[in-house]
This record gives sequence, structure tokens and C-alpha cells, in this order.
Amino acid sequence: MEHPVSDTLPPVGGSIQPAVRVLDARLASLIDPGAPLVRLADGCIWSEGPVWLPHEQALQWSDIPNDRAMRWKDGAGAEVERHPNDFTNGNTLDREGRVIHCEHGNRRVARTELDGTRIPLVERHGDGRLNSPNDVVVAHDGAIWFTDPPYGILFPEEGHPAPMEQAGCFVYRLDPETGEIAAVAENVRHPNGLAFSPDESILYVADTYWAVDKTADRPIYAFDVVDGHRLANQRVFAQIDPGPADGFRVDIHGNLWTSAHDGIHVLAPDGHELGRILVPEITSNCVFGGPDGRRLFITASSSLYAIEVLVTGAGVAAAVARGEFIA
Ligand code: MG
Repeated sequence: MEHPVSDTLPPVGGSIQPAVRVLDARLASLIDPGAPLVRLADGCIWSEGPVWLPHEQALQWSDIPNDRAMRWKDGAGAEVERHPNDFTNGNTLDREGRVIHCEHGNRRVARTELDGTRIPLVERHGDGRLNSPNDVVVAHDGAIWFTDPPYGILFPEEGHPAPMEQAGCFVYRLDPETGEIAAVAENVRHPNGLAFSPDESILYVADTYWAVDKTADRPIYAFDVVDGHRLANQRVFAQIDPGPADGFRVDIHGNLWTSAHDGIHVLAPDGHELGRILVPEITSNCVFGGPDGRRLFITASSSLYAIEVLVTGAGVAAAVARGEFIA
């Protein structure tokens, strides 16, 4: 994977303004075009997997090649939270506010209990080990949906190189109560970021096959979610340029805030691009957080950034962060 870092970045605490490019007037209800993009932390190699921890009012994220979890808190700045970190990538919250992790190193999905113990949830599908779970989202019924591309067994800086034991790279649905796991999408070459629409009728999945084939397209797919268990009607939702998209989040109105190589692209539910938050490093993901859920934290290469927005996130993790979701 490429991890270029610009040498013209603002210092930690510094900001970039303007950072917002307006492409459609509808963006005005989502973000102030004059909002500054603030650089909150530096010193990472590849930042990804942001999750807002409401009970601690802190942002946790992964610095995968340094094999550490980072934490940022207003007033305290950034610090190392966990090292080694099992080459953890994506993180999210479940309905109880526990953090769900995708571990490249152990090729599994794990959960940190409220007492701080970390337990495995799933390591295998059928007869083989998973590839290297990358990103994860929890549905309102408690099911854990995650993607399983090969980067943790392909790139030594992201895990432990090893043969693939699955027939491909799939999207999975895990029932954490029964341990039942099902492959729900088998026709995305390298499934990566994923998120539901607000009513969970649609699942969006990024394909980052471009990481191994620079002639590949860079789609985000949309699927219809059937009975909360299956996917149907795979179609291209958007092609991300410059891209590919890695992780993304959906806001309460159904707009998709996706990472891209030049920052965050804001896409309306019809796929039309409303605007961009231009970030001076290759961007991997974002998450709605902060005291009122209206601060967008952005992981990008060496850094963590944030920008104030006018909307909050959809889904279980964002609802838990707002204190709205009672399991
Ligand atoms: Mg990812």
C-alpha cells in the first residue's frame, strides 16, 4: 500500500481554510463552506478505523503499520492507547457501547468488553480462517457486518503474510449471540468500507481492488438489504475519483461521506456529489463524533483531522454516541 505524506502540512492544532469545495447548493445544510479543517494529531504511518467513544468523549483510531491504537481527547491531545494492537484496522460500537474491532493480525473480529477484556467473536468461515477483517458496522438487530479483503495477509506492514484460506474476499454477517456467520456478498473483489442507509434498507460497500491493480475501477456498490439477513440487487452507487474510497459514514439524511484520495466526498442518496472536504493527505475514513455528534473526525495517512459539520451520523454507533440507543 502507498502511504505518501505531504511535507506542507499544518502543525498539530493548525488548520486549513477554506477546506470545503461546494459542488451543489444542497451542501449548505450539511456543512459551513468556511469551516476550518483542524489537524489534531500527527506521527502516524497509516491512520484508519476511527470510532467515537461517548463515555470517554474521546476518539480512538488505528495506526496500522505502527501496530497501535491511538486516542485523542479534547484538551489532552493524542496518545498511544494500545501497542501492540493485533494490526487492528476498523472499529465501531455495538448497541451496548462496546468497541468491535477488525484485527488483521489475528484474522478475526473481536470485541472489547466494558471491563476492558478483549474477546474474539469470529475467526473462521467454513473450513478456513478469515483473510483479514477490515471494516465493520453493527445493525440495529445487533448483527455485525464486516468486510474481509486480503491486505493483512498480503502486505507485511499491515499484518502477517499468509496464504488465503477462503475462496475469495467476502462481506459477512455475524450473529454475535449464536456465532453464526454467513457470506452475504461474494462479488466485490476487495470489499472494504461499509455502511447502512439510515433505515438499513441499503448497504454500501467500497471495492478497493485498485490497491493491487491500478487499471481497476473504484466503485462503491449499493445493495438492497433483504429481511436484515441477505443482500440483493448489487449495483454501482458511485465511482470515486481520485480514489478508491476506503471507509465512509452515512448521515441521518442518508448522505454518504466517503474517504477519497483527496479528502472526503459528500454524496447524496442518489449518488450525486454535493461537495468535498479537501484533506492534504490520502484519506482512509471518517466518523461523526464530538459532544453533539456534529464533529467529523477524519483519518488520513499520518494524521487525524476534524471539521465541524451541521449534521450527525446514522446507525447504531452514532446513536449510541448521542445516548439515544437503549439496547
Ligand atoms: Mg478500510
